[in-house]
Amino acid sequence: MAKELIRLRDCTMVFDDDVVLNKINLSIKDNEFLTLLGPSGCGKTTTLRIIGGFVKPTSGDVFFNGVRINDVPPHKRTVNTVFQKYALFPHLDVYENIAFGLRINRHEGRRLSKDEIHSRVMEMLEIVSLKGFEHRDVTSLSGGQQQRVAIARALVNRPKVLLLDEPLGALDLRLRKDMQIELKRIQEATGITFVYVTHDQEEALSMSDTVVVMDGGVIQQIGTPEDIYNEPVNAFVADFIGESNIVDGIMIEDGVVEIFGKKFACLDAGFAPNEPVDVVIRPEDVDIVDIKDGMLTGTVTNVTFKGVHYDVIVDFKGFKWLIQTTDYCPVNSRIGIKIDPDGIHVMHKSQYSGMFGDYSSYSAEYEEISDAELGPEETVSEDKLYEA
Ligand code: ATP
Repeated sequence: MAKELIRLRDCTMVFDDDVVLNKINLSIKDNEFLTLLGPSGCGKTTTLRIIGGFVKPTSGDVFFNGVRINDVPPHKRTVNTVFQKYALFPHLDVYENIAFGLRINRHEGRRLSKDEIHSRVMEMLEIVSLKGFEHRDVTSLSGGQQQRVAIARALVNRPKVLLLDEPLGALDLRLRKDMQIELKRIQEATGITFVYVTHDQEEALSMSDTVVVMDGGVIQQIGTPEDIYNEPVNAFVADFIGESNIVDGIMIEDGVVEIFGKKFACLDAGFAPNEPVDVVIRPEDVDIVDIKDGMLTGTVTNVTFKGVHYDVIVDFKGFKWLIQTTDYCPVNSRIGIKIDPDGIHVMHKSQYSGMFGDYSSYSAEYEEISDAELGPEETVSEDKLYEA
């Protein structure tokens, strides 16, 4: 287990009477790639700025290697930052942009020799895959290459921690994806702790060791990408991370949850008997089957071809689910669905209950066809009970 490098304890930030961070508690380990993820305004950048020392929390403490650093200014912290708008020096070439910090700063109390600077710059160029670019004018580089120079410039001082605030935000999708892989590789190659801010859930899932999901200045969940995706703690996290159908349910007993009046087997346990719950079902965990075999039956109201699969919107008694399937089902067809126990995830009710997870409002495109009527001949199968 890697040792703890940074700890935020009960950090609260108030701006103009607005509580923008509310008692944040966070532990960041050495060598970790940790991502702060959440919608705009949730407090990600403020958290990053507290770690960097650019702002002091209104209350609470920040520790680095167990030492309280609330009053340590940014330049005395072994932390560097890469912003979305990285300002490279346009009059310096790639080599000099990276060497700049080494030339002006003392390192471990002394100036570095020319040879030391050269070997560190060349090492960085290798790490960010820009070997051979040292004498290129930075203005002649692509956005992704410029971003890599900015990262090299931040890393060349060998900080213990690199803070990255939406560093890929200005890049187009393709470049973003390439840079995500690059960043992960760079983090692994250097062993430096990365604290990364993004509102892009896919980016967070693909790069991070740990994801911190935030909303309204509060940490909602901390976990590995797999934990966050498979075991969201509430409807906000389930909705923010990937696509989810979130429906009301009743936890009858351990391993049995009732949805739309039918009992489903699940793997969840530890709830009170008959506790009202939120149930999340991912679109890829729903199998479309023949009506007679369906645990539930519904009507297809929209189909969109997505390349690898179809996004199918299905109306279950007025509640619209998103199902992702490789089987084509025409609009207006009646279908049955089957969900395996491990495709059902049960959550306690929260302040977010009822706010997410019904695809009626997914997009205008999905609303073209209004709720489909139930065919009279299907009334019986609709009521068929699936016993867990
Ligand atoms: P985004 O993704 O849009 O950058 P964020 O999650 O990083 O959002 P923050 O930048 O941390 O959010 O801002 C959180 C809240 O604090 C916002 O409502 C913002 O307007 C407010 N805020 C941030 N800095 C200040 C400041 N210096 N003075 C007043 N309010 C501020």
